[in-house]
Amino acid sequence: MLTTLLRCYDCNRLLSLGPHNRAPGWSARVDPAEDLEIPWDDEEDFRLIHAGHRLGEVRIREGTAIGKGCWGDPTRAIWFEATDGRETILVRRHRMRIDRPAVYEVIPGRLVSGPGAPEVQARDLRRQLDFDLGDKVPATIRGRFVAAVEEVAAGLFAEDLENVGADPQDALVEYARLGEDNRAQILDRLRDSVPEEILRRLHRFMIENMQGNDVMNLRLRKSFFIREQEVRNPQARRA
Ligand SMILES: [Zn+2]
Repeated sequence: MLTTLLRCYDCNRLLSLGPHNRAPGWSARVDPAEDLEIPWDDEEDFRLIHAGHRLGEVRIREGTAIGKGCWGDPTRAIWFEATDGRETILVRRHRMRIDRPAVYEVIPGRLVSGPGAPEVQARDLRRQLDFDLGDKVPATIRGRFVAAVEEVAAGLFAEDLENVGADPQDALVEYARLGEDNRAQILDRLRDSVPEEILRRLHRFMIENMQGNDVMNLRLRKSFFIREQEVRNPQARRA
C-alpha cells in the first residue's frame, strides 16, 4: 500500500513512491506476436526534472482519505493529508483516464470532514414494512412505527452507533445499527395502544432488517469540504 510521496518544495509537485514507478510499460506488437518492454522510471524522471530543487518525502496520514463517488472508480478524485513531520499538507489525487498514472497535487487549504447526522431510510423502511407486514399490521400502526424510529434516531449521534459497513456505490455513505436499547425505546413509544402480538411482529421485523444497508439501519452521510488557507499577509487581505 502506498504511504509515501516525494515532494518538490520548489515546484510543489508530488510523486508517489513505490515499486510501481519502475514497472515497465508494455507495447503490443502485432508481428511477431510478443510484447516489447519500454523502460519507464517515473522516479528517475521526477528526480531529473527537479534536479537541484529541494526534495523531501511526505507520508500519507492514515484515515484521512476522503472523496465522492464509487469506491470502484479509479478515476474519482480523493483528498488526503500528508506530512513531513513538521508541516501537514493537503493532497488531491486524480487520474485523467483509467490507463494513465495518478496525479498528486498539493492543495492550499485544510480538509474539514464530519460523520454527518444519522438518517432513517424512511422510504425504504415503509416499503419493506408494507411488503413484510402489510396484511398483519394496520397501516396506522406501521406509520406510527416509522415515526417512532425517526424520533429515536433524532436523538442519536454517529459515535453512539455500531458501524456496519460502507456503501459500495457511494464512498461517503456508511450504515450504522441501532442498539438493543434503541429498539426497546421504539417499541415503548407504541406500547400504550398497540397489542402485544403486533409489538412482537415489529420486534422481529427490526431484528430481521439490521444487516448492512438493511432498512432498520441508519444511513450516515459523511460530509467534507476544503477550507481555504488563511491569507498570511494582512495587506493582501485588505486589497
Ligand atoms: Zn521542482
